[in-house]
Amino acid sequence: MRVYDKFYINGQWVEPIGKGSDEVINPANGEISARVPYGNTEDVNAAVRAAKNAFGSWSNTTAAERADFLRKIAVEGEKRNADLTQTIIDELGMPIQHAAAFQVDPLAIICESFAVKAKHMEEAKEVGNSVIIQEPIGVCAMINPWNYPVWQMIGKIAPAIAAGCTMVVKAASQTPSHLFMFAEICDAVGLPAGVFNMVHGSGREIGTALSSHPDVDMVTFTGSTAAGVQVTNAASTDVKRVCLELGGKSPFIITEEADLEAAIDFGINDVMVNTGQTCNALTRMVIHESVYEQAVELAKSKSEALTIGNPLDPNVFVGPMSSPGQKQSVLDYIDQAIADGARLVTGGTEMPAGLTKGNYVLPTVFADVTNDMAIAQEEVFGPVLVMIKYSTIVQAIEIANDTPYGLASAVWAGDKDKATTIARRIRAGQCAINGGEPNHEAPFGGYKESGNGREFGVEGMHEYCEIKSLQY
Ligand code: NAP
Repeated sequence: MRVYDKFYINGQWVEPIGKGSDEVINPANGEISARVPYGNTEDVNAAVRAAKNAFGSWSNTTAAERADFLRKIAVEGEKRNADLTQTIIDELGMPIQHAAAFQVDPLAIICESFAVKAKHMEEAKEVGNSVIIQEPIGVCAMINPWNYPVWQMIGKIAPAIAAGCTMVVKAASQTPSHLFMFAEICDAVGLPAGVFNMVHGSGREIGTALSSHPDVDMVTFTGSTAAGVQVTNAASTDVKRVCLELGGKSPFIITEEADLEAAIDFGINDVMVNTGQTCNALTRMVIHESVYEQAVELAKSKSEALTIGNPLDPNVFVGPMSSPGQKQSVLDYIDQAIADGARLVTGGTEMPAGLTKGNYVLPTVFADVTNDMAIAQEEVFGPVLVMIKYSTIVQAIEIANDTPYGLASAVWAGDKDKATTIARRIRAGQCAINGGEPNHEAPFGGYKESGNGREFGVEGMHEYCEIKSLQY
């Protein structure tokens, strides 16, 4: 069991002022995997003070110096790859075949990406008698979710370092250990005191204290839309910048000319990875009526072929849900979908065969779903796919856009040009064309209730910048 008892503030491991602690439970077996301190508002005050004091000198470092630190973090992060990966398996339950590849390996890639982009902070643009420059926004509060903890964390920290910001970071209560390890990494590379600070505790107390702190200039939040609204309200009193990365209910349009087998393969993998706990999961498959039943059969056989079980088993694709509460919420959605008249193609509320403990939910597929059902409108955040039939492409686009969310989407058509024409009409921040893979150099973020910011790419660094125009 991992035990942490200090926070990393101002370049030192310090005793928390708050005296609480919390146990982290392994979702695969119910055992305690870590114990971490729970801080309070005074710990947040100390961390923000350190970040504020460090900002003056850190924001005056050169882009090359900051890039150098990012590269050192990448090297040190690679040395800690196995430790970080183990925290993801123990605390989230993500299977070993995905935990490093999806969460921890990108740490070095993302650090290098922003090490290269840091130089843009020193560029100036001339417009008539003006010169436009960018400056770091200041002290950033970073609040992260539990579903992709390392990836989300570095997606905020690396651009903030590149821009010259200082920061206070909070992880989700369910998945804290990676953040303590990341503090060890910052310490090992000699990142100047106060640039990176971390605290831990409940979102309600620590998250609110960070979001409303008068010395925080920007809050960057990834999590549920409900908590994102609370963060925005708390941050509004002194007009902080708020960057939100929220939930999704993303559509995947499959036309009659698509390579159906490849499309269904792509769609099932996308929905079931991380046991469906993925913000941009393509959970609504919108399929042309002429190939609908064939698609349902393929989705059934593909889902039933996925190995479910112990995340430490290298053959396992689907691990447990992150918590008993998350599992129950998914089971309730499955029951409701059946009551609403959706056809259960595979999966359901039974425990998978051979498993007696752990928060497991069977990979589940529903057919004959209409887009007004709760299972098609609400973010289930579990291994549940809904399949919706369309007859014209206009109808397919209407269905795709009939959602309060707009994080991601996908289209699989006969060719890339046809797919791109459809993609341009979907109101979402990204679209995978005929199986296109994610790209860490491209901006990631949502329309509508999926958020208002962008992470990754040069746009991801611009979130951490103020713009100044100098008139001559
Ligand atoms: P969550 O309950 O909203 O929690 C996210 C983080 O916010 C946690 O650190 C939580 O702390 C904290 N928090 C909770 N209430 C808060 C408040 N009132 N003020 C400030 N902080 C607060 O979300 P989650 O269940 O961890 O994550 C799942 C959600 O995140 C899903 O909706 C998913 O789609 C979304 N997500 C979006 C993206 C994206 O990039 N768009 C990526 C990943 C996940 P505690 O853990 O201590 O409660």
